[in-house]
Amino acid sequence: MAERYSRQERFAPIGKEGQALLAEKHVLIVGAGALGSANAEMLARAGIGRITIIDRDYIEWSNLARQQLYTEEDAASSRAKAKAAEARLKAINSTIEVVGIAEEFDPENAELLLKDVDMVIDGTDNFNTRFIINDAACKYKVPWIYGGCVKSDGISLSILPGQTPCLQCLIDQLPQDGETCETAGIIGPAVQVTAAYQTAECLKFLTGHSMSTHLVSFDVWGRQYSSIDVAKLKDPQCASCSAEAQFPYLKKEKGIRTAVLCGRDTVQVRPGRKENVNLERLAQRIEPLAGEARVNEVLLRFHMEEKRFVVFKDGRTLIHGVEDVQEAKKLYHRYVEA
Ligand SMILES: [Zn+2]
Repeated sequence: MAERYSRQERFAPIGKEGQALLAEKHVLIVGAGALGSANAEMLARAGIGRITIIDRDYIEWSNLARQQLYTEEDAASSRAKAKAAEARLKAINSTIEVVGIAEEFDPENAELLLKDVDMVIDGTDNFNTRFIINDAACKYKVPWIYGGCVKSDGISLSILPGQTPCLQCLIDQLPQDGETCETAGIIGPAVQVTAAYQTAECLKFLTGHSMSTHLVSFDVWGRQYSSIDVAKLKDPQCASCSAEAQFPYLKKEKGIRTAVLCGRDTVQVRPGRKENVNLERLAQRIEPLAGEARVNEVLLRFHMEEKRFVVFKDGRTLIHGVEDVQEAKKLYHRYVEA
């Protein structure tokens, strides 16, 4: 076992001292899709002492082309990504602590989770969640590493609250043209390069080195690369990182909330407060109507009115096959909430 990290320890900037530091660190990975999987696997193999990974979704066949922690069996049984990731990471490295949380990362759990971590890795696929990470990171002074990829392009930036510009400061410099993996596609190499930049920065910071202030972006297909120093773009009036910061994304919404998941004809419905839904009981109630309702460790799935329902333990429900929020709310009240 002493051999385990020998090559990494031989790398001069890390050394035995750096390796010992990594064993004491706690990294939170938000999102267990392609970027989250790639970062998590590298960090688990590198010997980070504690990894917490949070994700709201479950595994589908279309994930397997690039989400490296998952297998066909996971897709066939619609396993929650966070739980499948936890199991796989523990199998990769049994000497570290890994916790998978099958929930949406929201203002509530963001504040709880961020109090206790040394670093956050962005493995999300949307800016709303990234701004929640950014506000919580700024509030608790936790560094985080932004990463995004679509098609053959990737982008990454390290954010050190109090020192570098934050995501909110740079809002005008970032690509938000609405292209997503569902609409424009993505290839695995773009994921791997983006995750490599994120993990490298994470290892640098956790072993006592300073992180880069450069925004890197690249196209692995077209072989383009750029690196821009954004250090001077810190906004002194920033709503998230200035002395008068309001942390707008940490404000909690009340009542039922809905979100259209990009490009998937899917609407997510969330009850006003998190519940502890008895999935077995709901399955028994729904089965006479739906024909079949299948329960696994964290979710229940069934078909009704040609829509696919996935209900999580906390009451959060994904309804596939609807485009309209009102229709989704009606279906939710009819079949889930009753
Ligand atoms: Zn800022």
